[in-house]
Amino acid sequence: DNHTVQTINPATNEVLETYQLLSATEITNKIQDSETAFQDWKKTSFSERSALFKKLSLLLKDRKQELAILMTKEMGKPISQAKAEIEKCALLCDFYAEKAASFLSPQNKDFEGSEAYVRYDPLGVILAVMPWNFPFWQVFRFAVPSLMAGNVGILKHSSNSFGCGEAIASLFLEVGFPKNTFQNFLISGKQVKQVLENNHVKAATLTGSEAAGSSVAEIAGKNIKKTVLELGGNDPFIVLADADIQLAAQTAVKARTQNSGQSCIAGKRFIIVNEVYDEFVEEFKAEMSKLKMGNPMEETTDIGCQAREDLAKELDEQVQESIKKGAKLILGGKRNNAFYEPTILVDVKEGMPAFDDELFGPVASVIKAEGENHAIELANNSEFGLGSSVWTKDIQKAKKIASQIESGSVFINGMVKSDPRLPFGGIKKSGYGRELSINGIHEFVNIKTVWIS
Ligand code: NDP
Repeated sequence: DNHTVQTINPATNEVLETYQLLSATEITNKIQDSETAFQDWKKTSFSERSALFKKLSLLLKDRKQELAILMTKEMGKPISQAKAEIEKCALLCDFYAEKAASFLSPQNKDFEGSEAYVRYDPLGVILAVMPWNFPFWQVFRFAVPSLMAGNVGILKHSSNSFGCGEAIASLFLEVGFPKNTFQNFLISGKQVKQVLENNHVKAATLTGSEAAGSSVAEIAGKNIKKTVLELGGNDPFIVLADADIQLAAQTAVKARTQNSGQSCIAGKRFIIVNEVYDEFVEEFKAEMSKLKMGNPMEETTDIGCQAREDLAKELDEQVQESIKKGAKLILGGKRNNAFYEPTILVDVKEGMPAFDDELFGPVASVIKAEGENHAIELANNSEFGLGSSVWTKDIQKAKKIASQIESGSVFINGMVKSDPRLPFGGIKKSGYGRELSINGIHEFVNIKTVWIS
C-alpha cells in the first residue's frame, strides 16, 4: 500500500526491508522536536560541535565495512567504492570540525567614526532531500556544515536508500549528538510539501533530478524559503589535438564509469577534435573494454548494477533512441535486469538523447568537433552546467577556455571531482548555490550586520 516502502537489492531483487511512512501528525510532531533541539543546539560552542564530528569521523572509519555493505545492498555500487565513500565522509567531518569556527568567525568592518561587524548565525531547522547515488556522501555534504553552523537537520532520503538514512541518524545519536539535532524522516516525495510548508523549517537543499528540484524550489519559493539545488549534469570532456591522448582516454573511462556511471559530475559528452578523434576512440574503447562488470559485493568489480531496474531500462531507451537517430554503438549496449554494460556511442550529435539529456549510467557519448572553438560551442550547447574537463598541454589556452565554459567547475587535464576545500555546484539547470568549502557553510546562515554608532 501507499504507507509502506520496500527496499530491494537491485543486484538480486531480494527484498531487504519494509518501512512504515510517517503520518501527517507524526511529521508535525517530529518537526517540533527538531525545533526544540535547535533552541539548545544553537547555544553550543564550536568546540563542542567539533568534538562530536571528530567522534563521528572515527565511528565511520570503525564501521566502514558494515556501512559499505548496507550501501551496496541498497543501490548496487561496487563495494570498494562504497568503502571509499565512507572514508570521504570521515574526512569531511574532520575538515569542518577544524575549519568551521574560522569560516564563521565574525568579520570586523571598520569605517571612519563607527564600528560594524558581520556575524553568521544559524537559521534553524534545515530540510535535506537526498538521492541514492552517493547515499552517505550526499547526506554528509549537507549535514556536516549545517550542524557545525548551529542548524539542525531533517533528512528525507530516497525511498531506495531508507536503510542508509536510518543508519546515518543512529550514528549521530551513538556519538552523542543531542536527540533530534539530526533526524531521518521516512516520508515520500509527496510528503516533502508538508515539511517545507511548516514554519519551523527555514530552508531546504536537494540533490536529485530536475523534476524533484523544481517541485521543491516551487514550494519553497511560495513560502519564501531559501533553497540550494544540486541537479543533473551533462559534463563535457574536451580533448584538444595537443593533449596526452592515452592519459585522457584512461581518465575518461574513470570519469564516465565511477559509481557505475551514476554521478552528476561524471564526464558524459566526450568532445574530441578532428585531428585526434580516431586515436582517442581507439584508446577509449580499449580502456573501457578492460572494465569488469559483476557482483557489486566483490572487491574486484569495477561496475556493479544500476540502482534500480527502472533506471537501467530508461538508460537503455536513451541509448536505443540515440542509435535510431544515427549514433553508432561500438561497445556494450546490453541490459540484463539492473545491470548495464559499459557502452560507447560515437558520432553523437545534437538532437539525440545521448547529446541532449543526462545519461545516468555507464554510457559514453563521443562527439566530433571541427576545432577548438567548435568544441567550446558544443560544450556550452547544453541546458546543464555542472562540471567540465579540458585536455591540452597548453595551460594558458586551457585557462582561456575555462573562462568561456558555462559550468560550475573546470578541471584541466583531470577529471571532475568534489573536494571539501573547494566550492561545488552548478549553473543553468544543474541548479544553484554551492556546497563544501567556506561557500557551502555560508549557504544556510543568517549573515547578520551589527552596527555600533
Ligand atoms: P529523484 O530526483 O526522483 O530523487 C531524488 C530525491 O528526491 C529522492 O529523495 C526522492 O524521493 C525525492 N523526490 C522525488 N520527487 C520529489 C518531489 N516531487 N518532491 C520532493 N522530493 C522528491 O531521482 P530518481 O531516483 O528518480 O532518478 C532519476 C534521475 O535523476 C537520474 O537518472 C538522474 O538523471 C537524476 N539524479 C541526479 C542525481 C544527482 O546527483 N544530481 C542523483 C539522483 C538522480 P523518493 O525516492 O521517495 O521519490
